[in-house]
Amino acid sequence: MSKSQTEAIEAFASARLDRLEGDGLRRRLHPTVRSEGGVATRDGRAMISFCDNDYLGLSQHPKVKAAAAEAAQRYGAGAGAARLVSGDCPLNEDLEARLAKHKHTAAGRVFGSGYLASIGTIPVLAGPDDLIVIDELAHACLNTGARLSGAAVIRFRHNDVDAAISALQQPHRRKLLITETIFSMDGDLAPLADLSAACDDAGAWLVTDDAHGFGVIDIQNPAPVQIGTLSKAAGAYGGYVCGPASLIDLLVSRARSFVYATGLPPPTLAAALAAMDIMEAEPERGARSRQLAHLFCKALNLPAPPAAIVPLVLGEVDKAMAASRRLEAAGFLVSAIRPPTVPVGTARLRFTFSAAHQEADVVRLVEAVRDALR
Ligand SMILES: *Cc1c(COP(=O)(O)O)cnc(C)c1O
Repeated sequence: MSKSQTEAIEAFASARLDRLEGDGLRRRLHPTVRSEGGVATRDGRAMISFCDNDYLGLSQHPKVKAAAAEAAQRYGAGAGAARLVSGDCPLNEDLEARLAKHKHTAAGRVFGSGYLASIGTIPVLAGPDDLIVIDELAHACLNTGARLSGAAVIRFRHNDVDAAISALQQPHRRKLLITETIFSMDGDLAPLADLSAACDDAGAWLVTDDAHGFGVIDIQNPAPVQIGTLSKAAGAYGGYVCGPASLIDLLVSRARSFVYATGLPPPTLAAALAAMDIMEAEPERGARSRQLAHLFCKALNLPAPPAAIVPLVLGEVDKAMAASRRLEAAGFLVSAIRPPTVPVGTARLRFTFSAAHQEADVVRLVEAVRDALR
């Protein structure tokens, strides 16, 4: 190992870290053990987590865990190679058929993660001669996919249909309009019917990311291309794209993050399949996460959300961090969300509700939030 290179990298990276620290933007990992009932244990202290995306509590469900364990015994812990190289574990096809049926599309494709699904799919749909019109609050992976495509990119004001219509006026070969369904950091719902109509008028194609809607709320989604993740309400890991059959086929040959990345581990695929069984058999789980979010909002006079995400925007980073620390002291894990995940000046607490929570947990949380903001 070259000593001079190592030292130069040390100097570079520690200067960058110092700058992030000074701006209050340095991020740190905290060892935390998650368990049933939304419990998260950190530094030996058990807390209730109101910040994960395990909306249905399925990551801890005995049937989901058993399915993963059984698949590990039967197929092994890992996929061995990319699906095109070593052969396709049959669980992939099962899951893809299942997803397409759930989404009412002709076909589905599973990717290594939601992030990989986005950055692989968008450059297949659009290239340098094309136009991508994207909501300004769309997730980082959608923006990265747009950038990787080489298309011209216009970001429009959040959920502003007129702004999207005017951005779509530009003449280009192909046009995509990209948005989330339920927005990850704001919890609101995109005006999907109006955006779809705008696409029809402009000859554009609507692409949505349903990471936070899937399993929580059944959205009437007119988008022909629907991206999502298996790592949130499905309690497992992996991403997917559902859409027209020939596009889904094309991804196998052209999506770089599909072709050049190893397939999902069989235990993960089996966990996602078992989770979808439960998600579909017990729709009351999604309803419960939404009801708990409503209960919380009603008590704090906040607007009721369409799904299970409630933002409490506090403004400056310090304020959000301090509120998060106070909640932690009261036994609740609610992380502060800060730039660049959200726009500067909109640092916030982001509360997420799960079917695994008890109503009493939410009632105590409300009190803790009142105290923390006092
Ligand atoms: C979490 C998330 C992703 C990424 O999904 P992963 O499976 O975690 O890679 C993509 N889009 C949105 C909106 C998300 O919230």
